[in-house]
Amino acid sequence: MIKKILIANRGEIAVRIVRACQEMGIRAVAIYSEADRYALHVKKADESYCIGAEPLAGYLNPHHIVNLAVETGCDALHPGYGFLSENPDLARICAERGVIFIGPEAQVIHSMGDKTMARQSMIAAGVPVTPGSEGNLANLEDAIEQAERIGYPIMLKATSGGGGRGIRRCNDRQELQQNFQRVISEATKAFGSAEVFLEKCIVNPRHIEVQILADSHGNTVHLYERDCSVQRRNQKLIELAPSPQLDQQQREYVGSLAVKAAEAVSYRNAGTVEFLLDSDGSFYFMEMNTRVQVEHTITEEITGIDIVRTQIRIAAGETLGFSQSDVSIRGFAAQFRINAEDPRNGFLPSFGRISRYYSAGGPGVRTDSAIYTGYTIPPYYDSLCAKLVIWALTWDELVARSQRALGDMSIYGITTTIPYYQNILRHPDFKAATFNTGFVEAHPELINYSVKRRPEALAAAIAAAIAAQAGL
Ligand code: ADP
Ligand code: ADP
Ligand code: MG
Repeated sequence: MIKKILIANRGEIAVRIVRACQEMGIRAVAIYSEADRYALHVKKADESYCIGAEPLAGYLNPHHIVNLAVETGCDALHPGYGFLSENPDLARICAERGVIFIGPEAQVIHSMGDKTMARQSMIAAGVPVTPGSEGNLANLEDAIEQAERIGYPIMLKATSGGGGRGIRRCNDRQELQQNFQRVISEATKAFGSAEVFLEKCIVNPRHIEVQILADSHGNTVHLYERDCSVQRRNQKLIELAPSPQLDQQQREYVGSLAVKAAEAVSYRNAGTVEFLLDSDGSFYFMEMNTRVQVEHTITEEITGIDIVRTQIRIAAGETLGFSQSDVSIRGFAAQFRINAEDPRNGFLPSFGRISRYYSAGGPGVRTDSAIYTGYTIPPYYDSLCAKLVIWALTWDELVARSQRALGDMSIYGITTTIPYYQNILRHPDFKAATFNTGFVEAHPELINYSVKRRPEALAAAIAAAIAAQAGL
């Protein structure tokens, strides 16, 4: 039995984990930096502890965090996503200190977090992988030789990369020469590792990923797929479940590939196996994320399975309690990552005080957010401030409901990606569910919207601006 969990994270995912704890009768312990003193996850948790004045250092110090878990009597720790979630040291230190880590074993995090090691495991397991370099690249000459063997265009990638960073497409030898040092220095700066590899670039693929759950009694199931093809610079913006672009046969096939991948590494807890779907219908393994994902929500909506709760149950040693044939999906779900960014200004982060916030509601609408009226978004963290999650019985209803809910949601004081998403939803290719990872780049015109506001919304915005000016 787990009775008390330390949440080694912040923002909406920390709030999400607190909610699971509350429903399970588990005490939730939050950690926060000075900049996060007024954050929602701190307000919602049962206990909270400041981990320092530095905005980032505290969230990235596994020894300090595990010490705190021990001192405060926590029997388990949930890492969330980002921060230390894919750092094997956190899982290892937890194990050494007798704190249950809600996730896979340190060794599995290590071997799947290294993209070249993961590729090798998948090749050995018979899971299709994009043609690529054997292991990491030794130097530029090696890169050129391997690229010429595979054929351009190629993707140059950071071996320890994540969050869409440290990836560059190279269309020819000259571009490879230009990008080689650049990706190495990006990788060193962002991930503390200079290792890079390359793989064949799949031109305009679909990003299809499969949610996995595995208990410690040998049961592994998949919860079907998500389509995350609507991306900007390799970062997901809108995610869909199931993919409206797959037929039932493809759905079953990619699901079984993901189970095979997870079983090959004796995976335990929740994880995601990411694939690229080529225009000829081939699936290629891309990477595995050994943690809860930002877009786990949409899978919860179509399956009715609470993924965070299941993570906690698995970590406590329980069996899954259901088998593959018990997992069924109903309808469609979409997640819109509401980022505090200005699309019309190069997606520049837009931090500051939220003068007014009305969350969306009505049938089929869920908001997982970390914001409230009066909250000031600190400039140190990810720009994701809310996730709008929509469910509907059919694809057409999903598009209409999403449009309605995005219009429902009002965030004043900062600029967000909401109007941009409203434009995407109006595009005929999106409505017809035919898009690939090139969609965003192919449609720069969708960024040029004019913000049309209903008169009452405008009045509220003016009132909020006056109030902010007056320091109310
Ligand atoms: P998901 O894979 O769940 O869709 P993202 O790729 O958007 O999630 O990443 C979620 C968060 O985790 C982002 O803040 C991202 O920057 C961070 N992140 C993901 N992988 C890494 C990594 N290897 N190193 C550092 N940060 C990472
Ligand atoms: P991260 O760890 O940052 O999430 P991924 O390896 O999952 O990195 O790749 C992120 C995105 O980059 C993919 O969703 C896809 O759009 C693009 N991408 C990565 N590898 C390839 C490839 N070989 N061909 C085409 N696109 C790719
Ligand atoms: Mg990825």
